[in-house]
Amino acid sequence: MNKFKINFNKEVCINCGACASVCVNWIMDGIEVRPKETVISEEEMKSNKEAEDICPVKAIKIEG
Ligand code: SF4
Repeated sequence: MNKFKINFNKEVCINCGACASVCVNWIMDGIEVRPKETVISEEEMKSNKEAEDICPVKAIKIEG
C-alpha cells in the first residue's frame, strides 16, 4: 500500500482551522493546529489533499 508524507510548515501556518474543518487528521492543539499523523495511507489522501488545497498560506504539502 502506498504511503504519503505530509510536510507541514508550522512557521507559515496562521492557525485558521480551515484544514481541521475538512480533514480529521488536522486537529486544534490548544490554539495551534497540527496533523495527528504525518505519514498517511492512500485512503487518507483525499481529505488530506482537501486540507492542502484549502490552506490559505500553503503550509501543507503532501509528498508522494
Ligand atoms: S489551513 Fe493552513 S494556515 Fe490554516 S490552520 Fe491549517 S495549516 Fe494552518
